[in-house]
Amino acid sequence: MAWRLSIRKGDTVKVIAVRDKGKQGRVLSVDPDSLTCTVEHAQTIKRHTRPNPAKQIKGGIVEREGPINVSNVMVVCPACGKATRVRHQTLADGSKLRACHRCGATLSQH
Ligand SMILES: [Zn+2]
Repeated sequence: MAWRLSIRKGDTVKVIAVRDKGKQGRVLSVDPDSLTCTVEHAQTIKRHTRPNPAKQIKGGIVEREGPINVSNVMVVCPACGKATRVRHQTLADGSKLRACHRCGATLSQH
């Protein structure tokens, strides 16, 4: 039932909880099984990498985005520019749409 998730890869979302509250970024990936997503520049995890000359890995600290529960992010509507809840609509032909709860604009389906 992946379509029930209100966020999709490529959406712009606002983080509403966790450490990076208020941050806005693009969704890099969504994991429908664990109900988590990764958001550009949000919830970054610092990873200490050991140098491995054989693999051309220099070592040091690498920052990468960590998983955020999808309930902690809100889609930013491209039409009204606000963080919004997503309304799911089912059309007469059975296809499903996501729409902005505030202004009713259809969000891209990706
Ligand atoms: Zn809107």
